[in-house]
Amino acid sequence: MLRPALHIPPTVALTLPDLVEHARLALRSVVEYGEGLINPTVRLGITGLSRAGKTVFITALVHGLMRNGRFPVFEALSEGRVARARLAPQPDDAVPRFDYESHVQALVADRVWPESTRQISELRVVIEYQSRSGAMRELVLDMVDYPGEWLLDLPLLSKSFEVWSAETLEMASRTPRARLAKPWLSHLATLDAPGPADEGVAIDAARVFAEYLSACRNERYAMSLLPPGRFLMPGDLAGSPALTFAPLKVAHDATPPGGSLWAMMRRRYEAYKDVVVRPFFRDHFARLDRQIVLIDALAAFNAGPEAVSELEGAFQSLLDCFEIGRRTFLSSLLRPRSDRILFAATKADHLHHTNHDRLEAILRRMVERAIARADVAGAAVDVIALAAVRATREAEVRRGGATLPCIVGVPAPGEQSGSGNRKGSPPRYPVRQAGQGREGAFDGMTEVAVFPGELPGDPDALFAPGVAPFRGLAAASAEEADFRFVRFRPPPLESTGDGAPALPHIRLDRALQFLIGDRLT
Ligand code: GDP
Repeated sequence: MLRPALHIPPTVALTLPDLVEHARLALRSVVEYGEGLINPTVRLGITGLSRAGKTVFITALVHGLMRNGRFPVFEALSEGRVARARLAPQPDDAVPRFDYESHVQALVADRVWPESTRQISELRVVIEYQSRSGAMRELVLDMVDYPGEWLLDLPLLSKSFEVWSAETLEMASRTPRARLAKPWLSHLATLDAPGPADEGVAIDAARVFAEYLSACRNERYAMSLLPPGRFLMPGDLAGSPALTFAPLKVAHDATPPGGSLWAMMRRRYEAYKDVVVRPFFRDHFARLDRQIVLIDALAAFNAGPEAVSELEGAFQSLLDCFEIGRRTFLSSLLRPRSDRILFAATKADHLHHTNHDRLEAILRRMVERAIARADVAGAAVDVIALAAVRATREAEVRRGGATLPCIVGVPAPGEQSGSGNRKGSPPRYPVRQAGQGREGAFDGMTEVAVFPGELPGDPDALFAPGVAPFRGLAAASAEEADFRFVRFRPPPLESTGDGAPALPHIRLDRALQFLIGDRLT
């Protein structure tokens, strides 16, 4: 039972509370290890930034497992050794249950995308299978769905308020953030950090700062690094003091005067870490055996090169969270670490299959540092391009003597088509049929063929320094952008020939094989 270790950077000395925390985690780890010997259990974390595809992934995975989906690469199932998979009551009473039934109803019966992840939730599936030696066994799979924004908060644990303020200000000076940060920075200029603390001033500052974060998250810009994560998803902490603070322009090595706005903000920042970040780490993250990190790389391509480079930065932060190869003395002695991490680019069905390997290669290029470090620690890390639900099929469309590899699907109602073509770039949406309203919005009923554009064969072409490799929505209109992905409606079930009709997917079985295949031998 391998688990990630508590991240304490080597430069930070272990304090007594840290040691107590380690000891508690170690004790629980031993207890859970013992339980795992009796009931073999895999605790799988499913994370990714908002709208990366977590809800759809879990729903499709469980649906496929319970209904013998078409999973040829998932060996236990394809070898006919899975007797059945069933839902069971989850182990954690205080964590909301993943609402599988409603999500399946939406996805399969209503053919609309389910409601996205807003908070942590959990679902237990018990897989009854025959081992290769012929014995009947059970594997308990606990799936924990949580926002990636919470994960990206973990680096805050090792940062003071002053350091976090300085870093946040530095990031706000980059493109395209600088433009979006203007209202917040003008407001910040009016604040008197050493002046007296004032609740009204703190509330205003937190609001304007949260508006800036939210503007960065907009699909047009698709920025990834936006801590504190709860500012965008406050849940039941909305309006609490722990969420009512904002960065200040202060020296990173100075101490605030007593009773000042600065002291107030600093205290609340620490409260955020105590109330939000540490409990998340302790109660959830530290207990995961395996992880899948879902990434909407296509949304970043859609937005532009800045979003792609920020996504790369997010991988760096994720590395810090997983603590790969940087275990402390105590944790390495007492607490094992997460042993499998899968980075998955989702929604690959937005591309023709000729581009799936390219998407995977680009993702690999983006996480290669993560992979290198994980290899050092012996953890298995892999990347994959997948679609948990394949909403499109493929077609070759002839246009002006050329054959275009297109995808065909039903665009979600209201989805706008990108019609124009940038001079010199390949046409993006040359094929359109009935079902598109006068304003260029689709009606959600009719199939259309779309040429989504081609990803570069050489992943380095996207990352060459000093070159603007492609145009995204952050810098151009939808008509001029090089990649623009349409949101399709979920597909009907497809018949698998032998079993019950199943949801079509791309490489979901490969992900499953990597994540739990070895535990079903
Ligand atoms: P979450 O915020 O990570 O839980 O994201 P969701 O799972 O709710 O996905 C967000 C949106 O992405 C959905 O509403 C769909 O529009 C789209 N999506 C997610 N997974 C897929 C997929 O496999 N294929 C397609 N075509 N769209 C997907």
